[in-house]
Amino acid sequence: MDKISIVVPCYNEEESLPLFYREVSKVMEGIPDTETEFIFVDDGSNDHTMEVLKSLSYKDPRCNYFSFSRNFGKEAAMYAGLKHAKGDYCVIMDADLQHPPALLPAMYEAVSQEGYDCCAGFREDREGEGKLRNFLSRSFYKVIQKMCRLEMSDGAGDFRMMNRLMVDSILKMKEYNRYMKGIFSFVGFETKWLPFRNVERAAGQTKWTLKSLFRYAIDGIFSFSTAPITLASIVGVLLVLAALVISIYGLVQIGLDAPVSGWLWMTDLILFLGGIQMSFIGIIGQYIAKDYMENKNRPIYIIKESNRFRRN
Ligand code: UDP
Ligand code: MG
Repeated sequence: MDKISIVVPCYNEEESLPLFYREVSKVMEGIPDTETEFIFVDDGSNDHTMEVLKSLSYKDPRCNYFSFSRNFGKEAAMYAGLKHAKGDYCVIMDADLQHPPALLPAMYEAVSQEGYDCCAGFREDREGEGKLRNFLSRSFYKVIQKMCRLEMSDGAGDFRMMNRLMVDSILKMKEYNRYMKGIFSFVGFETKWLPFRNVERAAGQTKWTLKSLFRYAIDGIFSFSTAPITLASIVGVLLVLAALVISIYGLVQIGLDAPVSGWLWMTDLILFLGGIQMSFIGIIGQYIAKDYMENKNRPIYIIKESNRFRRN
């Protein structure tokens, strides 16, 4: 009998949690020959989330909770949840029912029968979200795709069911600044995508502010890309090229016996020196960036199958 762990990061979710528990339990009962465990991670809530979780676990021993000493963020909550999950398969779900539980049977089918390692929800639209956030998110994913050379799309979120192998691989990524979308993409594995429509939260409010989204975006870029530092070198080289063009212009003028202002050579020299410095700052940056990536101690490879050991 397969065990399925449902990992739920919760930050001030007192209103949605009872609804969530009811809905998800109902759906899970419909999946034959499986047992379910709930791993609720209370991410330092300051409402009655803990009371709700305690009473849930009192009524239903399949409900486990872990409570953080303060708000560490959803990424940390997901990591803690996966770490304590014992299931053969693990699902990550938001507590606000924006991730439709109705997809769970199909997800289980995909990972247990169809040979996929992971089955992830893919949000087709962004209904129920502000226009500005919508626009900024879309632009962000366009940029990050280009910069990180990893597949990360706008609709792909954290809602997914994974097999034990993929979960263990994710747990091997020990970095402190965790950017889950990047990590999912980094560890690889075969993923089946199931589209779903975005709905409004069941209760309560989104925890994201423009500021926290911006910080999240910056985390995503700097954890998986060293492109920004390359920019310094590129700007530097462009400045040097500009200086060369000015030099050639000056020399041609001299050749033609035309007057050349001393300012021209002055500007030329400043551009040239500035350009050289920028290029070298970029080069130093590359070394620091390499060191930074090394320090993450990411696994160098992840083996999916071998004749030396059996899967799961
Ligand atoms: N969450 C969390 N810690 C935080 C912020 C959010 O654990 O610091 C949880 C939250 O309780 C919910 C999920 O992450 O279960 C998604 O949050 P939210 O619904 O606010 O985000 P949105 O759906 O608007 O992207
Ligand atoms: Mg939500």
